[in-house]
Amino acid sequence: MANRERLVSALMDLIRIDSPTGEEDAMDREVTSRLQALGFRVEHDSFNNVIAKLDGAGEPVILSAHLDTVEPGRGIRPQLDGDLLRSDGTTILGGDCKAGVAIVLEALTSVQESGAAHRPVEVVFTRAEEGGLVGAHHLDFDRISAKRGVVFDGEGQVNRLTVAAPSQNVVKAEIRGRASHAGVEPEKGISALVIAGHILTRLPLGRIDAETTANIGYLEGGLKRNIIPERAFLDGEIRSRSREKLEHYTGEFRQVFDQVAAMYPEARLSLDITNSYQTYRVDAEHPTVAMLAQALAGLGLEPQLEGSGGGSDANVFFEHGIAALPVGIGVRSFHTKEETAVIPEVLQGAELCERVITGV
Ligand SMILES: [Zn+2]
Repeated sequence: MANRERLVSALMDLIRIDSPTGEEDAMDREVTSRLQALGFRVEHDSFNNVIAKLDGAGEPVILSAHLDTVEPGRGIRPQLDGDLLRSDGTTILGGDCKAGVAIVLEALTSVQESGAAHRPVEVVFTRAEEGGLVGAHHLDFDRISAKRGVVFDGEGQVNRLTVAAPSQNVVKAEIRGRASHAGVEPEKGISALVIAGHILTRLPLGRIDAETTANIGYLEGGLKRNIIPERAFLDGEIRSRSREKLEHYTGEFRQVFDQVAAMYPEARLSLDITNSYQTYRVDAEHPTVAMLAQALAGLGLEPQLEGSGGGSDANVFFEHGIAALPVGIGVRSFHTKEETAVIPEVLQGAELCERVITGV
């Protein structure tokens, strides 16, 4: 059986290992040695994602989480207060995604301890998830045979299943106007910031509908108070759980840039829109939902099927034909200094994971 004390101790150990995005080596060494101790063959792909395998009987299952955290995530001091685990208030907790990693390790330890029969297990711990699913995009999918599984990386209780998530297009634009002295000959200049302003007020932004959002999150430009700004740079995104809508609003973005470019024939506008991840959606009858519903029933829980406004490694897994769904890992307030792990819920995560592994 999943053991609360052992789980909490592993979780606190993992949280104390700094692993902001791009600096996952120490976490990698820790999970590699823990997985090897559990009898896994641990491999790394060219991006140094962890891919670990344990033989078993039946249909293989993928269990995934990510090794990195957001900032401020260095020198985290986890404080246990009854059932709640928090940082000391100066950093995040790193429960995202260390509770996910701890859940998988505890479930595997518990299965090994019980000697129960289990499926073939493929554990995937990615790097740089928080940097835009970078590790998952570089994952060597040839090494993975499982077609379904679980991504332990959702907010809230373990019965929260993210059954739909959006596609994201990343929007980057560079505007080149013309510099000139703002006091002496401003008429010779073309302000890249004014052009950026025209673009911003024309773009469809914010919540567009229930499944579509758009944002310009970063604007940079100009040099000095007395120079007409020559250059501006915009960084933004469009997301939708509908591919058609994503395409539609991507088209609207392009139109706005064309319109504004036509207003300033002597300026140069370059727009670069690239897809960063693809949407997925499964229904209540999907075999992965059924697998999780059965495991949850053993814990006395009903699955709660939810659509998300954010992407996760699951988006990339689906692109590669692996139906792995994110579930809650018992953590609240991801990416904030108030981030809190609710220990009884993290423990439920390990119990669910154990049931998925043993198929009961
Ligand atoms: Zn995460």
